[in-house]
Amino acid sequence: MAKKKLILKLQNAGVKPTAHRLQVMDVLESFEWALSLKQLSSSTQMDRITLYRTLRTLETHGLIHLARETTHDKFYALCKDHCGTTGHKHAHVHFECLSCHSVRCVESSVITEQSLPGLKVAEWNVQASGWCPDCVQPEAASV
Ligand SMILES: [Zn+2]
Ligand SMILES: [Zn+2]
Ligand SMILES: [Zn+2]
Repeated sequence: MAKKKLILKLQNAGVKPTAHRLQVMDVLESFEWALSLKQLSSSTQMDRITLYRTLRTLETHGLIHLARETTHDKFYALCKDHCGTTGHKHAHVHFECLSCHSVRCVESSVITEQSLPGLKVAEWNVQASGWCPDCVQPEAASV
């Protein structure tokens, strides 16, 4: 995404577009998957405290979310437009590949407000695991 557009995105969310915040958003934008703290700190070259603080600000303003927390790491992903300071509104699955341990957000039509009759859902946090397209074994190979 162009830098100008990113600056605007942050401003619209009520976040001052500092260099660190822009950097984190830029890295997350350029990947199709969620990124772990480890990946984020090596791509941004930020120290841990600055990185945590930056992620926290972006998270409370509905720009990014914690996609998955494993015993070793935390994975962050960008939010879509419907998140904001009033809360995160996600209706997608967080999928973790058991082989390469990549984490991604997957939209699913199975998740709707009607999925839980009589209950009003504010946020879904559905976890799934399996094998991503890069790691799935062709059936012939497993025989
Ligand atoms: Zn969100
Ligand atoms: Zn994989
Ligand atoms: Zn997600």
